[in-house]
Amino acid sequence: MKATIISIGDELVSGQTVDTNSAWLGRELGRRGITVVAHRTLGDDVEQIAEAIRSAARTTEQVLVSGGLGPTADDVTREGLAAAMGVQLVLDEESLTAIEDLFRRRGWTMAPTNRAQAMIPEGAEAIPNSRGTAPGIAATIGRARIFATPGVPHEMREMFMREIAPRLPEGAGAIVQRVVHTFGLGESTVAGMIGDLMHRDADPTVGTTVAAGIISIRVTARADDKDAARKRTDRVVEELRRRLGHLVIGEDDETLASVVGELLRAAGATLTVAESCTGGLLGQMVTEVPGSSEYFLGGVIAYSDRIKEQLLDVPPEILAEHGAVSEPVAAAMAVGCRKRIGGDYTISITGIAGPGGGSEAKPVGLVYVGLAGAGGVEVHRHVFSGTRAVIRIRSALAGLNYLRLSLLGAPLPDFDR
Ligand code: AMP
Ligand code: MG
Repeated sequence: MKATIISIGDELVSGQTVDTNSAWLGRELGRRGITVVAHRTLGDDVEQIAEAIRSAARTTEQVLVSGGLGPTADDVTREGLAAAMGVQLVLDEESLTAIEDLFRRRGWTMAPTNRAQAMIPEGAEAIPNSRGTAPGIAATIGRARIFATPGVPHEMREMFMREIAPRLPEGAGAIVQRVVHTFGLGESTVAGMIGDLMHRDADPTVGTTVAAGIISIRVTARADDKDAARKRTDRVVEELRRRLGHLVIGEDDETLASVVGELLRAAGATLTVAESCTGGLLGQMVTEVPGSSEYFLGGVIAYSDRIKEQLLDVPPEILAEHGAVSEPVAAAMAVGCRKRIGGDYTISITGIAGPGGGSEAKPVGLVYVGLAGAGGVEVHRHVFSGTRAVIRIRSALAGLNYLRLSLLGAPLPDFDR
C-alpha cells in the first residue's frame, strides 16, 4: 500500500511557510502501515496540480493533498483536481449549507467567494470540516483514492483524524512505534550507551533525533499484526529504559513540562518560577500543559536588577559583589520568590543568553539554575552552547529537569553541560 503526499501553496514553494503538513501526514500514514513514496510541493497552479495528482494516481493507491481550498482566487486545488479527473466543478448543497451555518453561528456575513468553497468536482464527495469553512474532497481516479484537505495545519489534522484515517485501507502488516525522550546528555553520549541497538538492520529499528537538548529515541517494529509488533517494540523500550534510567523523561507526546506537572500533581505540590534570561519561557512551557493551574501558582520575570531586588528580595550587596549571573543570585531569586509567592518549589534561572554580553569569566551560555524547596536551595551551573533561542530553551528545560529528578528522589546524573 503506497501513498503520495502533495502540498499546495505559493507560500510553500517560496519558502515563506514551512511545509509541516507533509511531515505530519507522512508520520500518520507510516504509523498505519502505508508507505509514503514521495512528497511533492507545488505552487497554486491549476495545470501543475492536475499533472501532479494524475501522476501520483498512476503510481500510488492513496494520494493526500493539502492546501489551496481557501475562498480566494489564488486557491485552485478544486480546479486542479477536477482537471485531473476530467470533470466539471459542481455545487455541493450540503457543504454550502454547512458554510452558511458556520457564518451564521459566528455572526459573520458570508462573502460571495465563500460559495466557491462548496464547489467540488462532479462525482467527488465533500468531506465535512469541523474546524473551518472549506470542506475537504474525496475522489477516485482509476485505482487511486484522492483526499484533499485545507492547508491550515490544525484543520488538516482534525479532518485527517476524524474523516480520512477511517477511510484508509489497512496497510500491509502493522507498524508500532514508541518514542523515548531523554534529557541531560548529548546525542553521541546517548548513542554510546545504546549504540548496539542502533545498527542499520536492527529489528526493531532504533534511531535518534535531537532538538534543544531533548534526545528522542524512536523504536519501530514491523510485524504481521499489531500485537507482535508491539511486543517487539516493548522489549527494546524496556532495555532502553534499563540502560538510561532517569535520563528518560517520558515517551511519545510527553514533555518535561507535562511529566513535571504529573509529578507535582501526584505529590500535591505547587510550583513558582523566578526567571531572568528566559523571560517567561519557563512559565510558558509549564502553562502549555492543560490543567497546569492545579500546580502552577505563577512567577516573576525579574529581568533587571531592580526587579530582582524589589520583587524577589535579592540583596543589592549580592548583586553588586557577584553580578546578576551568579550562583548566589540564582539562589536568592529562588528563595525570595518562594517566600514572596509561597508554594512548594521555585525554579530560578539567571544567565547570559547572548549573542553579546559574554566575557572570559562569564561566557555566553553561562546559566545558573536554582531550585528551592522545603529542604533549602540548590544551584546548578551550566555553560550551554547554541543560539540565544537554544540557550534559553535549554535553561528552561534544565530547570524542569532538576525539579523532575528532585520529585523522583533520583540522584543527579553526571550531565553533559
Ligand atoms: P490554504 O488551505 O491553501 O488556504 O492554506 C491556508 C494556510 O495554511 C496557508 O496560508 C498556510 O499558512 C497554511 N498552510 C498551507 N499548507 C501548509 C503546509 N503544507 N504546511 C504548513 N502550513 C500550511
Ligand atoms: Mg493557499
